[in-house]
Amino acid sequence: MTARTVLQHSDIARALTRITHEILESNHGGSDLVILGIPTRGAILAERIGRLLEQIEPGSGATGTLDTTMYRDDLARNPTRVPRPTTIPSGGIDGRTVVLVDDVLFSGRTIRAALDAMVDLGRPKAVRLAVLIDRGHRELPIRADFVGKNLPTSLGERINVRVEEVDGVDEVTIEP
Ligand code: 5GP
Ligand code: MG
Repeated sequence: MTARTVLQHSDIARALTRITHEILESNHGGSDLVILGIPTRGAILAERIGRLLEQIEPGSGATGTLDTTMYRDDLARNPTRVPRPTTIPSGGIDGRTVVLVDDVLFSGRTIRAALDAMVDLGRPKAVRLAVLIDRGHRELPIRADFVGKNLPTSLGERINVRVEEVDGVDEVTIEP
């Protein structure tokens, strides 16, 4: 069956610009912000948000990645998952506001694992969540603070998030 495009290149750019401004507004500026993306595509979106932050408020674009593989509650069921790097910007996360970034928010289990992974890295002042797509179907009490687009889906549908850096194109499609 055919995929339907829900966000094009310019829609994604606008959503990330808006999210960046929302982050700055809720943080009352760019001080002590750390943007941590969840690999793979969350990390790319985090880098883009970091660059936008840097343009608006130079010095506020500290960006890194946070791998959740070893903290997942389904690790025993999927032991073959390959861990990806965690890279924390200099200065660490202690006492700073961490904004986690992911491409799609679904059950919430990845973000739960990310919160667990962060405990080993330090104690942020606050943790916020930014996602490009919230597709619903939460299984845990987790919500996003910054959302590119709320996309109500049925359980069987699949959201494809493609980014230029990896996929050669910026688009979000939904497939039945
Ligand atoms: P959750 O842990 O909330 O169930 O799922 C979120 C994680 O799985 C995200 O890292 C996201 O990349 C991936 N994911 C879950 N559902 C989808 C989907 O429909 N499309 C894409 N592209 N990723 C998804
Ligand atoms: Mg993912």
